[in-house]
Amino acid sequence: MICRICKGKASVELRAHNISLCSKDFIIFFERRILKTIEKFNLIKKNEDKTAVAVSGGKDSLSLLYVLKILGYEASGVYINLGIPDYSEISKEKCKIFSERFDIPVYMFSLTDYLRKNIYEVSRFMKRPACSVCGNVKRYVMNRFCIEYGYTTLATGHNLDDEAATLFSNLMNFNRNHLGKEFLSLPSKLNTVKKVKPFALVSEREVAIYALLNNIDYIYDECPYSKGATSLKYKEAINFIEEGSPGSKLKFMKNYLKNIDIFNSDAKKPKEDNSCSLCGFLTTQNVCSFCNILIRVGAENIISDFRDYFVKL
Ligand code: SF4
Ligand code: ZN
Repeated sequence: MICRICKGKASVELRAHNISLCSKDFIIFFERRILKTIEKFNLIKKNEDKTAVAVSGGKDSLSLLYVLKILGYEASGVYINLGIPDYSEISKEKCKIFSERFDIPVYMFSLTDYLRKNIYEVSRFMKRPACSVCGNVKRYVMNRFCIEYGYTTLATGHNLDDEAATLFSNLMNFNRNHLGKEFLSLPSKLNTVKKVKPFALVSEREVAIYALLNNIDYIYDECPYSKGATSLKYKEAINFIEEGSPGSKLKFMKNYLKNIDIFNSDAKKPKEDNSCSLCGFLTTQNVCSFCNILIRVGAENIISDFRDYFVKL
C-alpha cells in the first residue's frame, strides 16, 4: 500500500474515502476534516468560544478534547464519575492520565460524593433504567458545569457510527420530534449552552486510529449498562451495508444534512420552555428532571452547593 500523499509506505486504508495513507498524512487528513466540519457548520468560534468536552475516558471523547487543543481551540474536559464498580475507577484513571500527559485540564463531578449513591442506586430509587436516569444526570451536570464555569459550548464525542445509527433509528420509527433537528449542533437557550458534535462525520474506526497514533490511552471496555442497547442493532445493520458499499454511512449523514429542511415542517411543535422552580434551569415541566431525582432521593437541599463538587483531576 502506497500513501496517496507522500508516496511512502501507507499504514491506514480508508475504503470509505478510497485512499491509503501513512500515519503522518492520516493525522493531517483527520485533523483537516474536523476543522472543516467545525468551520462549515459553525460549531465553535476560535478566540470566542470556551469549550467543555464531556469526557468518559473512552477514545472518542478524549480524542476530541485532544484534537480541539491541537487545532487551537480553548477547551477543557469534564468527567462524571457515576460510581460504577471497576468501570468508573478505570475510566477516571484514563482521564487523569490523559490530563497529565497532555497538560489539558479535566474536571470531575462525582455522583457518589454528591448524592451518596451511584447511578445504579439512583435508578433503583427512580424505578427507571440506569441509562435513562444517567442521560438526565449527564445532560444537567455537563450543562451546569458550563454555566458555572463560563464555558460557552459543550462538545461531545459522538462519531459517525453513533449519529448514523441514531438517524437510522429515527427514520425507522418516524420519530418526528427528532428528525427535523440539526444533528451537529443545538443552539443555546435559556441557561443552556450550545451543544456540538465535531466528530459526527468521522467514523469510529478513524477516531480509534487517531487515538492510537497520538498515544491516547483510553478505556476499552464499554459501560456495563450499555449491553443490549437497541442502538447496537442499528449500528450492526449500517455496518453491514458499509461493508458491501464503503462510504454509505457518510453519504447517509451528508444527504440527511443536505435535506434536513424537508423534515422541519413535519416536526411537532416543541413543548414550551420553562424555568425549573427549584434550580431555575431549563425544563418543560414545573420541576426539571434532575431536581426531580434530587427530590426522590431526598437531596433537594444540596442544589446550591453544586459548583463546589467539581474538582480538577
Ligand atoms: Fe450512562 Fe447507560 Fe451510558 Fe452507562 S451506558 S454511561 S449508564 S447512559
Ligand atoms: Zn431543576
